[in-house]
Amino acid sequence: MLPQEIIRKKRDGKPLNADELRFFSNGIADGSISEGQIAALGMAVYFQGMEADEAAALTLAMRNTGDVLDWKQENFPGPVIDKHSTGGVGDGVSLMLGPLLAACGGYVPMISGRGLGHTGGTLDKLDSIPGYNSTPDNDLFRATVRECGVAIIGQTGNLAPADKRFYATRDITATVESIPLITASILSKKFAAGLDCLCMDVKTGSGAFMPTHEDSVALAQSIVDIGNAAGVKTSALITDMNQPLGSTAGNAIEVREAIDFLTNEQQNPRLLQVVFSLCTELLMLGEITDNPADAVAMLESELASGRAAERFGQMVHSLGGPGDLIEQPDKHLTKAEVIKPVHLDETGFVSSIDTRALGMAVVELGGGRMRAEDNIDPAVGLSDFITIGESTDQPIATIHARSEHDWEQAAEKIKAAFTVSDSAPDPAPVIHQTIST
Ligand code: URA
Repeated sequence: MLPQEIIRKKRDGKPLNADELRFFSNGIADGSISEGQIAALGMAVYFQGMEADEAAALTLAMRNTGDVLDWKQENFPGPVIDKHSTGGVGDGVSLMLGPLLAACGGYVPMISGRGLGHTGGTLDKLDSIPGYNSTPDNDLFRATVRECGVAIIGQTGNLAPADKRFYATRDITATVESIPLITASILSKKFAAGLDCLCMDVKTGSGAFMPTHEDSVALAQSIVDIGNAAGVKTSALITDMNQPLGSTAGNAIEVREAIDFLTNEQQNPRLLQVVFSLCTELLMLGEITDNPADAVAMLESELASGRAAERFGQMVHSLGGPGDLIEQPDKHLTKAEVIKPVHLDETGFVSSIDTRALGMAVVELGGGRMRAEDNIDPAVGLSDFITIGESTDQPIATIHARSEHDWEQAAEKIKAAFTVSDSAPDPAPVIHQTIST
């Protein structure tokens, strides 16, 4: 087979078969296909699209270029389940969802990513826990899933390596925004974790990765179709990212919010709704329950009893973190030097929020990275956001900065991200849509 003939076929709008996609994916992974050829195929797919079974074949071909975890030998008494999000601001859902699902009897081998651009990354948040090993060897990863029901770690070098190279080329050749390529990229990595079921959280709004609501729905539908075609029970929620999801955005700050959530100290209602909705989908996909009311009752009980918090604490300890993080978070989580609220000069009600700008303010404080190799500061970020519809006679957020100068700079950006009107807008839903088949 010749790569240029495969590119020509796609360029001319013809579907590629599984053999051709396997050949091309293997060539990406082993380096025998050049960057120019990868770019050309990416652009051909960008313009010509892919049929559902073609994108499913690409997903499996890319997954099979590296290790594929298999949990069958563990004989777990529950399903292997996970969620994936397109990313947002104040979206620490994974930190609460993983332990909650584990407490309900699921097994969650979650391979998570770092933040890039304005979005936060689960891995960066967990790395703010002293000692936490987010890149354990396979034995420790498996033992943590077995004993705690959940392990949240980073991508190992040999997980879907074709995607790593394909994505890097797409990033510099303007072909990221292709729904079949995004679908294959996300699912090849998730399926390499050996899941039975997946629920995708596709964000929509001013802080979302997909630019329009229609694109978010199209991506969700594509992921559901291809996930199910590839043999993993998959559903998706379209959730709101027109404002930060939780009350905080940053790294150690979001871990603290997750601990407060799991220990029933404080639960942001929007965050609670997304966590419970995703968990409910997964408890039903994994056949732990067969109706939403039972799922919610189970989640409420595991949360109220402290059993979900216990799972979080066990996972952190198993992966090298402190054994008393849940009991004494302030002893372990670092804090910034300057923590002060910011007010708006205008009085009225918040009518909209530029959520992307808030995410970029966190990045500029040092809490995110502009380039993949940048280091991040775990202590900085934002907390106590007010939400759309609330009055501006109170602080709009609290800024956690390393210096007064950083605080001032962030304050200007945050104030500019809030739009105020004379009356409160109608409340918008947090969960826009569920896509099941
Ligand atoms: N995230 C991914 O992992 N891949 C894409 O193509 C886009 C977002």
